[in-house]
Amino acid sequence: MKAGDKLPTIGDQRKSRQAQLSKYGIGEKLSTPASGPFEKLPPWHPMVDRVASLPCVRNLLQGNYQKMNGLVWANGSIRDNVEQANEGGYQLMGVDPKERVVEAQGVLATIVEAKVLKAIPSPKVSVVLREDHLHAGVRAYHGETGVVVDVSDEVPIIVHEIAHYLEWHLDALWEAVMALREQRHAWADPRGKRIAVEIPAEMEPRIEERGRFAGDYPATTPYCSKVYDFGATELVSMTLEKLATKETTSELVHADPLLALVVLFHLRPNDKDVYALYEEHRRYLPPPPSWGPFGYFGYSSEAVDYARLG
Ligand SMILES: [Zn+2]
Repeated sequence: MKAGDKLPTIGDQRKSRQAQLSKYGIGEKLSTPASGPFEKLPPWHPMVDRVASLPCVRNLLQGNYQKMNGLVWANGSIRDNVEQANEGGYQLMGVDPKERVVEAQGVLATIVEAKVLKAIPSPKVSVVLREDHLHAGVRAYHGETGVVVDVSDEVPIIVHEIAHYLEWHLDALWEAVMALREQRHAWADPRGKRIAVEIPAEMEPRIEERGRFAGDYPATTPYCSKVYDFGATELVSMTLEKLATKETTSELVHADPLLALVVLFHLRPNDKDVYALYEEHRRYLPPPPSWGPFGYFGYSSEAVDYARLG
């Protein structure tokens, strides 16, 4: 989508996404999403500091990542799902592509609750090696079943791409970030014209893909509200990319704690501290769908009472 094009509605995007998901037999196939308008968080609201003091965020601010090698996903470790895209290519000096992907898995396992990952099969990760020393690398991208990264991509980029894969699998998370994007656009577009605004050229080289929703993304850049015709977003991926180092975690939770809280709420459905903070400030947050992630993952009995959030 280009700048100036008409923005799709959530309903349009949901339909495109479902069509995409049904090709691969993935997604939660849940119905009756509940979303709707919510209030703007006033500047200097005390909630801003509370996100940085959540135990899970404090852990990320210290860079205490898990070294997960074992059973993380439904079918084991990502280690067994990493492949070289091009046999015989050059590896870069000092880079073991497989170890880097396993390191990214450890970062993800720190951000995302174990039960959430356990319900999803590991993505396939294809690492593109250099054809020769003169060729530039490829730009990483994602599909519904896995991701493709360049051999030079650092851990936060690998986390970014796998976050896209997670978004395909987590309907409630997708609904929540869509509601946030709609609401931020509505605040920036009070006359409701629903016209895509422009992603700066240095963030998106392809002019035909520069369309984005209006609204401020102070930590994750305007790229974060990019529109894809097939229903993916950059909201989850950019948030997790930020959470992948302690310095960028600090930037995110101080500049846009609300975005961090929305994403963590859905990736950590049994985290009582995250839940309590969300509930306390629910008037400033996307209303959670009544079905939530708990029903799908089938651990509602251990979970906090999600239904109370309505
Ligand atoms: Zn992305």
